[in-house]
Amino acid sequence: MSHAHVTQAELSRAIRNIPDFPKPGIQFKDITPVLADARLFAGSIELLAGKYQPGDVDSVVGIDARGFIFAAAVALRLKAGFVPVRKKGKLPYQTHEESYDLEYGSNTVAIHTDAVSKGARVLLVDDLLATGGTAAAAVSLIDKLGGKILEISFLIELAALSGRSKLKHHPVRSLIVY
Ligand code: AMP
Repeated sequence: MSHAHVTQAELSRAIRNIPDFPKPGIQFKDITPVLADARLFAGSIELLAGKYQPGDVDSVVGIDARGFIFAAAVALRLKAGFVPVRKKGKLPYQTHEESYDLEYGSNTVAIHTDAVSKGARVLLVDDLLATGGTAAAAVSLIDKLGGKILEISFLIELAALSGRSKLKHHPVRSLIVY
């Protein structure tokens, strides 16, 4: 298929840097040009799925909100279920919650208590690894449910923020590192 040739360099060229969004000092990585290009979008999903094949994974967990786009497509590709980790207050059923510190204040994410079965083989997917607080909170939620995390994959990693150091207990893979 035509997306078989998508390279990390091509994805990197398509990602748009928006300085000072949403506030001064942030270099926002805009992934919408990747999503809008059929070939790049399909290629990014192939690369995020990595070595895994249908049958290898039970659940792909995605993080609110851009993570959902990639994780849902990876789940479909791997014939796995999709599970959302959402911002607090959005999930309707019983939840577990996990809070983590931001530069100013804190954030809380949640998962349905029955979303991942004990022992399920899980891939955790998000668009971008920055400080790692969000992904680490998602890891805690999956751990609480007894899911077995095979790998955590990101489209983009901002290496200077050392997010990997918060995810030491699992393999971390990112397609593009800045
Ligand atoms: P963190 O918890 O610091 O690793 O932040 C990761 C989350 O924040 C991801 O879900 C990203 O979508 C978002 N994020 C953080 N920094 C950026 C950035 N520079 N550009 C785009 N999204 C970002």
